[in-house]
Amino acid sequence: MTPLRPETRTVHLPQPPVEHSRPITMPLYQTSGFVFDDPAVMAEAMGRPDGPFVYGRYSNPTVRSLEQAVSDLEGGAGAVATGSGMGAINTVLLGLLKPGDHLIAQKSLYGGTAAMLNDLVARFGVTVTHVPEHDPDALRAAVRPETRLVYLETISNPMTLVADLPAMCAAARELGLVSVVDNTFASPLLCRPIEHGADVVVHSTTKYLSGHTDVVGGLAVFATDELYKKVWHYAIELGASADPFAAWLTLRGLQTLALRMERHCSNARLLATRLAEHPAVSAVHWPGLPSHPSYEIAGKLLPDFGGVFSFDLAGGRAAGERFMSRVRLALLAPSLGGVETLTLHPATTSHRALNADELARHGIGEGTVRIAVGIEHPEDLWADIEQALA
Ligand SMILES: *Cc1c(COP(=O)(O)O)cnc(C)c1O
Repeated sequence: MTPLRPETRTVHLPQPPVEHSRPITMPLYQTSGFVFDDPAVMAEAMGRPDGPFVYGRYSNPTVRSLEQAVSDLEGGAGAVATGSGMGAINTVLLGLLKPGDHLIAQKSLYGGTAAMLNDLVARFGVTVTHVPEHDPDALRAAVRPETRLVYLETISNPMTLVADLPAMCAAARELGLVSVVDNTFASPLLCRPIEHGADVVVHSTTKYLSGHTDVVGGLAVFATDELYKKVWHYAIELGASADPFAAWLTLRGLQTLALRMERHCSNARLLATRLAEHPAVSAVHWPGLPSHPSYEIAGKLLPDFGGVFSFDLAGGRAAGERFMSRVRLALLAPSLGGVETLTLHPATTSHRALNADELARHGIGEGTVRIAVGIEHPEDLWADIEQALA
């Protein structure tokens, strides 16, 4: 062959092989596809999730590393990483439900999930019944011949209700229903729902798993290979796959999850305990306090309670707004699970469209403040909160 011209050589770049050694950390495979020597091997690779890598929407080594890591942590048979937490939830629900199906969901749900369920009802003819997250009898009473699925959250937002996963998942299994648990708030370090009978676990990896407020991602873990393969095929059609760079950032964050989680939990414990004694605060919603409705279930299910909780200011809406305008270290921002402490006042931000009655139905007061505690020094956080409450 004649020597290749510069126009061609700038396109076909060298790839030095990495032999007799391997990278310490998982490399970022920023490529949309893979090259084959044998067309038969390529054809075969396209049909299964565990074959050779072929195309980015199907899978990618960096994404697969994240899927395996979280699947192992959760005790699953396989996982599908997605572009966002909602991507994971949609992939699972659309992959497992069909028009006419009925699902049972707990009452208190992440806002995006609640909106998605409304859409399933309005546009796809799925019906939904809501039951309390701790009541397996209510779940049994809600079952119909067309019921397929039970949807739960380990720890809810912002009132931190803890689902009775062992009782609810056992009831679901007994009734032949697939149970899906959003484990975002707990992370696999505080709870592994599959150990409590769940069939599918979903995560917004945007939160604790990545942990540095720099990436949006999601992931679904499946208890059985059968469920994994079924949803994997649908995930490819849906195109909700994770980007390799987002997966790479998430892997990097995951390496410090245990250290971060310990600090999130101990910081939240200190702030919740002190806030409960503060005269400007009328209630603290943290499952580690005996006054919390989930105190008993949380004590059995979780070794610690995560970094998100909410509290009610005695001064109502005005006090909530004042608190938000005064905090300095705690940042007024959505999201949670990152190293920085973030706070928001649902009545004037995320839930501003609701009146007092509607807020009350979500268990949110006009003076409720949500705080997602970061990993700063707890006394610096307390000093900030104290001056904002003064
Ligand atoms: C953030 C969040 C989601 C949605 O995740 P995105 O990554 O924002 O799509 C779902 N469930 C819970 C509990 C969350 O906190």
